[in-house]
Amino acid sequence: MHGERATMNWTSDIVFPSDGDLTESYARIGARLDGESDARAWRDAFGAWDGVRRTWHSWANLTRLRYTQDTRREEFRDAQRALDRRTPGYTALDTAMKQRFLASDARPVLEDELGAQAFALWGADVATFDAVIADDLVRESKLTRAYTELLATAEVDFAGGKFSLGALGVYLQDPDRETRHAAERARWAAFAERRERLDATFDELVKLRDGMARKLGLASYTELGYRRMHRVDYGPADVARYRDEVARVIVPFAHELVRGFGAHAGLDRVCFWDESTLGVAGRVAPRGDRAWIVARTREAFAAMDPKLGEFADMLVERELLDVDNRPGKALGAYCTSFPTRSVPFVFANFNGSRADVRTLMHEFGHAFQNWSSRDKVAIDYLTPTYETAEIHSMALEYLTWPEMERFFGDDASAYRREHLLDAMLFWPYGVAVDHFQHLVYAHPSASPEERHEMWREMERRYLPWRDYGDLAHPAAGGLWQEKRHIFVAPFYYIDYTLALCCALQFWQRAESDREATLDAYLKLCARGGEAPFRELVRSAGLRVPFEAGALEDVVKAARTAF
Ligand SMILES: [Zn+2]
Repeated sequence: MHGERATMNWTSDIVFPSDGDLTESYARIGARLDGESDARAWRDAFGAWDGVRRTWHSWANLTRLRYTQDTRREEFRDAQRALDRRTPGYTALDTAMKQRFLASDARPVLEDELGAQAFALWGADVATFDAVIADDLVRESKLTRAYTELLATAEVDFAGGKFSLGALGVYLQDPDRETRHAAERARWAAFAERRERLDATFDELVKLRDGMARKLGLASYTELGYRRMHRVDYGPADVARYRDEVARVIVPFAHELVRGFGAHAGLDRVCFWDESTLGVAGRVAPRGDRAWIVARTREAFAAMDPKLGEFADMLVERELLDVDNRPGKALGAYCTSFPTRSVPFVFANFNGSRADVRTLMHEFGHAFQNWSSRDKVAIDYLTPTYETAEIHSMALEYLTWPEMERFFGDDASAYRREHLLDAMLFWPYGVAVDHFQHLVYAHPSASPEERHEMWREMERRYLPWRDYGDLAHPAAGGLWQEKRHIFVAPFYYIDYTLALCCALQFWQRAESDREATLDAYLKLCARGGEAPFRELVRSAGLRVPFEAGALEDVVKAARTAF
């Protein structure tokens, strides 16, 4: 399942469109639309355009995948650099086409046939691009790559050996308190060593993004960031109200859980390195290696639903996953897809901890949704906007709860308890990451010092139990530097918490009616991204997290489950 071998058999027809071919394809489609008023002709041209976009995205996603599989390999780095360099050119062509479709007389007919959501998404896209920011976009990619590489290549001294930050992860959850503490000390020493480079990279990113927003005639990066995130049915004011609700409803509950579980574990002081193991005593880890976990996953999915089973078989048999942890491989986990082949791909870094199972359930949720939506009429609908996409992944983490005995044996209930506790502690953290970014982009000229202070302010508000002990770097406000999204995908984080609120509703409903809930889940996955967040959530019979009372219900259910 090593990436290189895995990508051999199904990537053979993923082609590398030359700049000339791309320009010509767009010109040809554009020529078909000149002076055209017949909706049929527009619909046909749309099909051709959609095909070009699928070709581009298949190549782009494959390039990104290979680069993250080995950030040190020159050939992959070159391809990634070429992608970064060429993306603004592609975006310019694509944006111009979106503008034509948005302005078309045939639009009402096309909206009937394709759905209005594609037009809403294109509307957001055309507001986020202009040739005047093309060079800035290349620079932005370069800076985010610098962040990825700085952390992917970090070697941490720990327990007499050298570890990547990814490989260190398992020790952060070790049952032995001193081991966890030492692992955190090693990890944060690595960040402290890189602090200045991280600060400088972020400082340049913030100023660059703020500058792009202004060049596009927007007041701040926040406005641009929301559009880049395709938020077509809610804005910063909705999110700010929601954050207040989290502070009011979730934060006290989470604080109470930290105190309660800390006392139960006999801790007089719950330190940062204790939080990851609060819900479990001893080592709760999958009882087999990578291949074993994957085999159990196939069984679990087959037991849940034939569609899920068929999907897991397909993914494994076609080797559409790379979960090995290797030096030079980028950190984290994600799901990508190849629209010309109608298949997803799962990327992860297994380290032998229980997080491997949860990560796999999560990424399989994304992959399953993508697979379920593969026949959608527009590439725009293959995946929904991020906050909705995270519902599919996070809900599957909970819907697979009854299958956890396969992975953890008698420790399955400890796994579930820890999972729920982790969700409650994550929620305020996720909101803190979001609020922090709103502060950062509202004050783009703040100094790195001031940014670290902003983060501390967020911790006081959302994570009041936080105790870093002798971890100097996070104690001084440096924790946010490990959060990849803050550098690479601005404003992508509140999404996890919005999705969590919806995923927990699926969990709550499955407790009383598993069959109907699974059915609703499969239906939601099949809708892909054909509608905006609120509409998709409501169509699955869930409450939109912005609505009053949504959080209280979830807390009530969680309280009885502990
Ligand atoms: Zn996800």
